[in-house]
Amino acid sequence: MSAAARRTAIESIVHREPPSSPKAREDLHELFGKNVFGLAQMREHLPERAYRALESCMQRGAELDPELADLVANAMKEWALERGATHFTHWFQPMTGLTAEKHDAFLGLEDGRLLLEFSGKQLVKGEPDASSFPSGGLRATFEARGYTAWDPTSPAFIRETPLGATLCIPTAFCSWTGEALDKKTPLLRSCEALNKQALRMLRLLGDERVSFVYPTVGAEQEYFLIDREFYVQRPDLVATGRTLFGARPPKGQELEDHYFGSISPRVLAFMHEVEAELWSLGVPIKTRHNEVAPSQFEIAPVFERTTLATDHNMLTMEVLRHVAQRHGFQCLLHEKPFAGINGSGKHNNWSMATDTGENLLEPGHTPEENMRFMLFLTAVIRGIDTHADLLRVSIAHAANDHRLGANEAPPAIISIYLGGQLEAVVDSLVTGEARRDRSGVAQSMRLGVTALPPLPRDATDRNRTSPFAFTGNKFEFRAVGSSQSIARPNVFLNAIVADSIAVLCDRIEERQRGGATLEQAAQQVVQESLKTHRRVIFNGNGYSPEWHAEAEKRGLPNFRTAVDAVGRYAAPENVALLERQGVLSRKECESRANVMFESYAKAIAIEAQSAIGIASTTILPAALRFQAQLAESIEAARRAGVKSLARQEARLAETAAGIESALGALAALQERFETVEAHENGSPERHARAYRDEVIPAMTALREACDELETLVDDELWPLPKYREMLFIH
Ligand code: ADP
Ligand code: MG
Repeated sequence: MSAAARRTAIESIVHREPPSSPKAREDLHELFGKNVFGLAQMREHLPERAYRALESCMQRGAELDPELADLVANAMKEWALERGATHFTHWFQPMTGLTAEKHDAFLGLEDGRLLLEFSGKQLVKGEPDASSFPSGGLRATFEARGYTAWDPTSPAFIRETPLGATLCIPTAFCSWTGEALDKKTPLLRSCEALNKQALRMLRLLGDERVSFVYPTVGAEQEYFLIDREFYVQRPDLVATGRTLFGARPPKGQELEDHYFGSISPRVLAFMHEVEAELWSLGVPIKTRHNEVAPSQFEIAPVFERTTLATDHNMLTMEVLRHVAQRHGFQCLLHEKPFAGINGSGKHNNWSMATDTGENLLEPGHTPEENMRFMLFLTAVIRGIDTHADLLRVSIAHAANDHRLGANEAPPAIISIYLGGQLEAVVDSLVTGEARRDRSGVAQSMRLGVTALPPLPRDATDRNRTSPFAFTGNKFEFRAVGSSQSIARPNVFLNAIVADSIAVLCDRIEERQRGGATLEQAAQQVVQESLKTHRRVIFNGNGYSPEWHAEAEKRGLPNFRTAVDAVGRYAAPENVALLERQGVLSRKECESRANVMFESYAKAIAIEAQSAIGIASTTILPAALRFQAQLAESIEAARRAGVKSLARQEARLAETAAGIESALGALAALQERFETVEAHENGSPERHARAYRDEVIPAMTALREACDELETLVDDELWPLPKYREMLFIH
C-alpha cells in the first residue's frame, strides 16, 4: 500500500471494460436448471417406480432406502459424467455460517484399472473429518467425527469451472450421537414441526385434502461492489469485510441518486453473468436493482420452499463473490462495509404453503378462507410476541450491530407491522366493536361468518421501518444481516409459529369439548390471543425515539447488541419451545449460543488487530511523513525570509496534535485488546461482553483520531483508498 499504488489503481480502473463474454448466450429455457439433477433429469435417468419413490422422498424430506439410493446414485453419476464432472462432494453448512465441501474423484481402481464409482452409500452418507468445525463445546475432539447425510429436499447440482466440474450433494451434518452440527439439520426439523402443527390446524378446520405444509422463503440480498484494485489496498476490508478507517466523503447518499438508478454497463455485465450462473444452478433469480447507498445493489429470487431457498441463498452469495472477481470487482456482503453509509441486509420473506398449492397467509375471499387466515395470522402474532427475544437472537452477530437501530435498518425491538386495514380488523376482533366497511355499514367481525374487508396487496401501504411486516400474503423479516445464512432466522420462525399454532389448536379443542362450535371457539381463541399479544403490533415509525419509549412501556424487549441478545438463546422458555418442537435440544442450544459468543469475540479480535496494524504501520507513518514535510517546508520558508508563517505553524501544530491523539488511542487499544484477549475466563459470554464494552470503544476512538488525520494529511501521501474513491469510481 502506498499513495502511488492508490493513484495507479484509479488510473487503471478508469479504463476498465467488462470482460467479453466467454461463450455464446443461451436462452433462459436452456439455461435454467441446466446444472441441477432435478425432477426432469431424474425422470429421464431413473426407472419409473424408482422415480416415483424418490419424488415422494424429495417432497417430504424422508430417508431413501438403500436399494433406491443405489439407483439414484447411479443415475446421478451418469448424469454428472455426461456433464464432465470428475468429482463429487457433500456440500454442507457448518456453524461457521459458510458452506463446506471436501471433494472426492469418482475414481476407483480394480486390478490397476480405472473404475468410475459412486454408490448409494456415498450419496446418502459422507464422513468428513469434522474436528475443526465450531461445535461450541458439543464434541470433544477425540469424538470429533460427524457424518453428512443427503437432504433430499434439495437436489444435487454441478459446479463448473472452465477446467472441470464437481457434483455437489446438499447435505445435513450431524455428530454420531445425533446432535446437529450444522445449520441445515435444525432447519429440516423446524420445517417438519411446522408441517405437523399446521396440518393439525387444517384438520381442525375440516381440511382433509392438504397432506403437507411447508414454509416458503424469498430472500432479497443486498451487497456492495467495489473495484478490486481498491479492495486489495484495504487490509481492513480484506481481513474483516469492512473499513475500519475512512473519513466521510463530501458526497454520500444524501442526493438519493443511486436508488433504482440506471445500472452502469460494467455492473450490468457482472449481473448478467451472476444470473446466468445462478439460473444454471436452478436458482430462480428474478430482480436486480441499484440500492440506496452508492455502489450498493440488490438481487432477489422467486420464493421457494425454505430448505431450498436457504441453499440457494448460500449459492447466491458464493456466486456473487466469484463472478465479481472475474469482473475486477470485489463483492462486499458485510452488513456495514462503510461507516456513515447505509449497510446491507437481507429481507427474509416468509409464508406457509400447502401441497395443494395454497398460501396459508393469503387472506382469501370467503368467510371460511378468512377464518383460516386469521387463525394462522394470530399464531404468528402470538408466537412473535411470546418469543421476540428468540427472533432477535436469530439476527445477532457483531456485524449486524452496526445496522440495527441505526436509522437504516429496523431497530433491535421486534415488532409487527400489519398495515391500517388489518390492524382495524384486529381492533374490531379484540374489542368486539363494529367496524365500518367500505359502504359504511357497521359490522362486527365474526370468524367464519363475516368476510374480511379487501386488504391491499401492493406496495403502497409499506412501512420500511418495521422489522417484521405483513406484506399482503407473507411476512417480511427485514432485520436479517446481509452476510448471514438465513437458516437460523427461519429455524426460529418456523419453530415459534409451529408452537403457537399448537397452542391455538389446544385452546380451540378445549372450547369445542366445552360445547362451542368451531366458529365460536376460533373466534374466542383469536380474540383472547390478540388481546394479549397485540402489544407487538406497531404500524408507526420504527426509527423514531418515541417508539423506543413506547416499546418499553409496552414491555417489549430491546436487546441493543448481539451479546445481550445471544444471552437469551438458552433461556428456559426458549429452550423449552425448541425442545417441545423437536428442533434443538438444550445441549444444542447452549453449544450454539457458545458458538455465537465465540464468533462475536473472534470478529472483534480480528478487527482490533487489523486496526492496530493499519494505524501503526500505514496511517501513522504517512502522518509522520507529512508532519516532517510540513516542518521542513516551514523551515525552508523561514530561511528564505518568509515572515507570516503563523498559519502554517498552526497547521503543523494541528497535525502534531492529531498524531499525538492517534498514538494515544493506539496505545490504549493495544492495552485493552491484550487484557481482554488474555482473560477468557472459560466463559464465552463474558469474553464477548468484554470485547464489546472495552475493545470496541477503544477501536472507535482510534478510528476517530485516524479519520481526523486523513482530513489533514497531504492527499499525495495518503496510502489507503478513500471512501470517495471506493464508492464512486468504477
Ligand atoms: P418487493 O418486496 O420488492 O415489493 P415482492 O413483494 O414481490 O417484492 O417480493 C419480495 C420477495 O418475496 C420475492 O423474493 C418474492 O418471491 C417473495 N415472496 C412472494 N410471495 C412469497 C411467499 N408466499 N412466501 C415467501 N416469499 C414470498
Ligand atoms: Mg423487500
